[in-house]
Amino acid sequence: MLLDKMAKAPKPLGELGLIEQIRREFSADSKAITLGIGDDCAILRPPQGCEVLVTTDFTLEGRHFRRDLHPPESVGHRCLARGLSDLAAMGATPLAAFLSLALPGTMLAKSAGREWIARFFSGLRALGDMHRVPLAGGDTSESPGGRNGLVLADIVLVGSAPKGEALRRSGGSAGDALYVTGQLGGAAAELATMLKRQRRILKFTTTDGHPHLFPEPRLDTGEALLRRELATACIDMSDGLSTDLAHLCRSSGVCAEVEQAALPIHPLARKLGVNAALQAALHGGEDYELLFTAPPSVPIPSSLAGVSITHIGTLKTLHSGRPLMTMLAPDGSRVELQPGGWEHFSGMANSRKKRSR
Ligand code: ADP
Ligand code: MG
Repeated sequence: MLLDKMAKAPKPLGELGLIEQIRREFSADSKAITLGIGDDCAILRPPQGCEVLVTTDFTLEGRHFRRDLHPPESVGHRCLARGLSDLAAMGATPLAAFLSLALPGTMLAKSAGREWIARFFSGLRALGDMHRVPLAGGDTSESPGGRNGLVLADIVLVGSAPKGEALRRSGGSAGDALYVTGQLGGAAAELATMLKRQRRILKFTTTDGHPHLFPEPRLDTGEALLRRELATACIDMSDGLSTDLAHLCRSSGVCAEVEQAALPIHPLARKLGVNAALQAALHGGEDYELLFTAPPSVPIPSSLAGVSITHIGTLKTLHSGRPLMTMLAPDGSRVELQPGGWEHFSGMANSRKKRSR
């Protein structure tokens, strides 16, 4: 693999050398790309009858990952997964990715740094290949701070969806049933274990079963929801069920009730104990599962595109003075559900939300 060669090359790599390696490694063989890496702009050709969807996501060292804790493949994987999950939430098909990357100058100068970059790209590429997403451009820069500079990445994903049919957060109505894909709390549980051990995971035998390191964006499920006209509203859960459900409720102008006993809790979260598992499932974030709604008259299969679907609650009419979200406990009691997931700049307002991400 070319990037492997780059890692082993004895001499420092410059911006142009790195871009050339990326261009060769990611040569885009896709109907959607008329012109990929190499010119001032990429030229994309969206399918006929489709609209273009665009999303952008930061991956910042010290905020979204730690170089001393996360394997570089995981950083590359998660960088792309964040954008793909946004496309999945709208039922879109990916067309191309664009990556703006700032790296400390010392990284390109040293072979350990070049190896880190090569492994970052191999993680990004493996997920891109899995979903046939070509890298069609980007920008490369030296990050400020010299040897203390940080790895900063911004990914842009461009996708397509049939005109007027992209799934939105705003389409839910009172009476709709609420569903989630997969299982919840796994990413938070794996991250908690990593932070407790404070040890870098150097090797992993498989990317399966690592919900924090290698989340699986639900593109096929999102596309199936759109194609089969099953969902009225949809959002991906990047910040946690409680926070993302609040977004869906506000956009749709409804409130929601979640049934605690119905929540599909990830086995890694279950290991934390009953209460911590529930907290991870409700507020953990970064599971990148889909949360969607459908009228009760629409039969929803128990699995869609190979991913399990669980009915977890109902949308209700919004009344002023009533909570936006409630949770029905197994003993039949009702508690208010507060958004408790990830929110940037919330450290001052709510110390509970101060966490290392
Ligand atoms: P310009 O200065 O005109 O923006 P660049 O030298 O930055 O051109 O980039 C040259 C080509 O390489 C462009 O097609 C750009 O999209 C691509 N490119 C630059 N950095 C990256 C990157 N990190 N990942 C993918 N493509 C990149
Ligand atoms: Mg540029």
